[in-house]
Amino acid sequence: MTIKLLDSGYWHVRWNCNQWIQWPQHRNPTTTDVFGWVTEEMVDLAQRLADISRRLRRRFGRPSRCVHGEEPVRNLILTILSQNTNDANRDRAFSSLMRRFPTLSLLATATPGEVEEAIRTGGLAKTKAKAILSALARLKRERGEFTLEFLREKPLPEARAYLTSLPGVGVKTANIVLLFSFGLEAFPVDTHILRVAGRLGLVPASADLARAALLLEPHIPKGEHAPLHLTMIRLGREICRPRNPLHAECPLLDVCPEGLRETRKRGRA
Ligand code: SF4
Repeated sequence: MTIKLLDSGYWHVRWNCNQWIQWPQHRNPTTTDVFGWVTEEMVDLAQRLADISRRLRRRFGRPSRCVHGEEPVRNLILTILSQNTNDANRDRAFSSLMRRFPTLSLLATATPGEVEEAIRTGGLAKTKAKAILSALARLKRERGEFTLEFLREKPLPEARAYLTSLPGVGVKTANIVLLFSFGLEAFPVDTHILRVAGRLGLVPASADLARAALLLEPHIPKGEHAPLHLTMIRLGREICRPRNPLHAECPLLDVCPEGLRETRKRGRA
């Protein structure tokens, strides 16, 4: 089965023949195939994710409260500020912005220059200021107030589609808001998780952040989306680093094709 996710929000599925079939995104063809059957590959992925989640929890413990457990609009702003920077700079930019504009109404009336100045420490200030102000302007125009509460009752794909229709908001940012502010079973994939998932063979090497998130999300056990997101990031930062990963210290070594290949190679050298 070959699957492509189209920008239109449809999956393009080719299943044992040369015909492409359009498949609505909310019927994820990786949780059931086009005939509604669950294949062995899918069961295998779900079991592997459950096992990985268990091992990471055993190693790192259950993660405590996450900084993204914010009110949804503030969490959206915090997450926009986290793009392409580290946690320390994101937090500095967010605190500075909230000090300068303590309410969302005040922030919405700020000029782009004022917002840029307040968030400069987070980098990409111009782009981020524009994204924050246009999100607030759209909420005010469409909802009459600065709220995302209306997303709480929506199915996950619909809530995600709304958030990603905001300028500067991609699948990763949307999923962070949906997971941590609304408790939906969204799975944000950042560069650490993408690297770890690629090495573990959970996603194809060609997958980008958005595709990896949509492929993994439906197979993660209930209640494990947030802990797995946080522990995979921790694994990626501390052990499965971009360079010189510490395979021998990794709790996933015996279930990781790349780790096993690399340690065998080193053993032969
Ligand atoms: S075994 Fe190595 S490559 Fe695999 S997840 Fe662990 S550190 Fe990463």
